[in-house]
Amino acid sequence: MKLVRFGKANEERPGILFEEAGHAKILDVRAAAFDIEDYNEHFFSHHGLGRLEALLKESRRKTVPTDGVRLGPPIARPGKIICLGKNYADHAKECNSKPPESPILFAKATTAINGPCDRILLPPRHGIVDGEVELAVVIGSRALRVPEKDAMAHVAGYMIFNDVTDRDAQRAGQQWFRGKGADTFCPLGPWLVTADEIPDPHALRLKFLQNGKVLQDGTTKDMIFKIPYIIAFISASMTLLPGDIIATGTPAGIGSVHTPPVVFKPGDKIELEVEGLGRQANEIAAAV
Ligand code: MG
Repeated sequence: MKLVRFGKANEERPGILFEEAGHAKILDVRAAAFDIEDYNEHFFSHHGLGRLEALLKESRRKTVPTDGVRLGPPIARPGKIICLGKNYADHAKECNSKPPESPILFAKATTAINGPCDRILLPPRHGIVDGEVELAVVIGSRALRVPEKDAMAHVAGYMIFNDVTDRDAQRAGQQWFRGKGADTFCPLGPWLVTADEIPDPHALRLKFLQNGKVLQDGTTKDMIFKIPYIIAFISASMTLLPGDIIATGTPAGIGSVHTPPVVFKPGDKIELEVEGLGRQANEIAAAV
């Protein structure tokens, strides 16, 4: 299934994207099941995905056309966003770093979350800003001290994740939080694809384009630490809750290391693609 949230920003309704007679439609989930308020921790921990499958099979279902509908981030604001730094050897190299010996973890602010086609806003006095295409994992069930062999059972699905970064703010602090956490610096989606539709998340092509030019073109098979190891590593220390997001790192080619650097300017058009997960398209603008 493809889970979407549609409508105005901060008023999105949960939906399921599906095809009927060759046309893409959105099933209005709340119209069919009023108690499903949103795709949040409660939803994932109360057999929400199973309920959606049942809704799709019902004959009387309220749908909305996809034309002209804004899609928001495909899940409600999660408990945490955990990111891996330098999880692709060729990206570590372009950052003048050795591949890490254990996962480098950092966090993005949940207020950075943005829709898949919303504007990315450059804050006042920003430095060099660029983006990173990543595969994000969404946790489906509570996970604490999960061994690698059981880790994938805790995955609800996958989505595209843009790890937008102010490189100057990242470098200026001992922590990356400010450079990574600005409002709108975390476009998600367009949809959450459930794990059953992605048989091998370590065999997906990822691309990042700026104004039509390909900057990043990689594959998730090059991740240094794979998803089961990442979940086991994080959950050895902290509880992963349903809805939590793990961004698995980015391949080589980020704009700021190009010669000359390719950085975000107002009016730029950004596109991200991950095989099987759709496409993001954002315009860059100045924050007011
Ligand atoms: Mg990143």
